[in-house]
Amino acid sequence: MSEEALGIAVTRSVFEVRAVVDAARRAVGTPNGVLSLHEPVFAGNEIAYLEECIKSTFVSSVGQFVDRFERMLEEVTGAKRAVAVVNGTAALHACFRLAGVEPGDEVISPALTFIATTNAIAYCGATPHFVDSSFETLGMDPGALAARLDAVAGRTANGTINRETGRRIAAIAPMHTFGHPVDMDGIAALARDWNIALVEDAAESLGSTYKGHAVGSQARLAALSFNGNKIVTTGGGGAILTNDEELGRRAKHLTTTAKLPHKWAFVHDEVGFNYRLPNLNAALGCAQLEQLDGFLKNKRKLAAAYEHAFAHIPGVRFSREPADTTSNYWLNAILLDEAHADQRDDVLAALNNAGFGARPAWTLMHKLPMYATSPRGDLATAESIERRLINLPSSASIRARDE
Ligand SMILES: *Cc1c(COP(=O)(O)O)cnc(C)c1O
Repeated sequence: MSEEALGIAVTRSVFEVRAVVDAARRAVGTPNGVLSLHEPVFAGNEIAYLEECIKSTFVSSVGQFVDRFERMLEEVTGAKRAVAVVNGTAALHACFRLAGVEPGDEVISPALTFIATTNAIAYCGATPHFVDSSFETLGMDPGALAARLDAVAGRTANGTINRETGRRIAAIAPMHTFGHPVDMDGIAALARDWNIALVEDAAESLGSTYKGHAVGSQARLAALSFNGNKIVTTGGGGAILTNDEELGRRAKHLTTTAKLPHKWAFVHDEVGFNYRLPNLNAALGCAQLEQLDGFLKNKRKLAAAYEHAFAHIPGVRFSREPADTTSNYWLNAILLDEAHADQRDDVLAALNNAGFGARPAWTLMHKLPMYATSPRGDLATAESIERRLINLPSSASIRARDE
């Protein structure tokens, strides 16, 4: 759907690069040095828990902080089971494996995403199959997904296949971009209708809600990331969320070398992964999760300040949370009108020169050499977003000016 059709006002008056910088200053003040895109905040029990962890000598693959971190994640997300792993990419890889993705399959995913979503598909020996994104959510567009499935998918005894490639479509993998939840109901309905597994890349959306439910609480399989730039960090880390007890058990097994529990014997019953999160990282994560509510509060204030500051800037639109959702506003984003897309790099340069560590969107996946020949639908919206999107400094430590 076009922006106009969504009722999003497209301004037509004079666009000035300087006005964007001025708006950023009105929102957060003049940076003292450089405001990075996203930096962690360690204002809680981080040092205490790390010290406790080191003194216990259990710094590695077993220890009480891993269990505590998993239980805290279950509480925060509402998921039945959280399994902590070494990073978000590993969480995605395990999710796809648990969803039954096999070598030779295809997985439908957005072209507008971080490389991890796509690489995790490739690690399974599967091929990503790109569908378009939505201007409203910045994530997978159910309309584009439906159109693509209608155009290429066929129902067979072996499941849904891509009639053009003959490969099975094993999963659909939406991603909640910058914390904005995708239209899950629309996507889940299509996944059900076509009998395709659903795996959520929720790496950016811890703390977001969709129709009143925490992102992850309804998931059959979802992946989180706790990389240093995410809303909470374990240094490096990730988690698998599931509402299916059996899948949760298998997730733990697959990511901990598939070792059968025994007092002393080393027996493994499949090719498992050493994807377990070290206890040291989990200790950091426990301290971070204790502060999540505060981070979310600050980030919503910051988003409101940006939204307010950009409300009347011609040629620019702040990307607000989609209807029926609350975004964690992991990264704030503005979109230049299409008419000014050719000035995006000027805006990026001006913002960075003024101390705002602004960044463009990721290069779309089908433009990368590894995925250039992957099947894809029409990607006009993703390409438009890529041309005109700018992320603004979004750390939970940044104080909105008009608080
Ligand atoms: C951060 C992120 C991941 C996971 O990244 P890791 O660095 O492996 O933790 C996956 N998908 C998206 C969209 C991300 O932003």
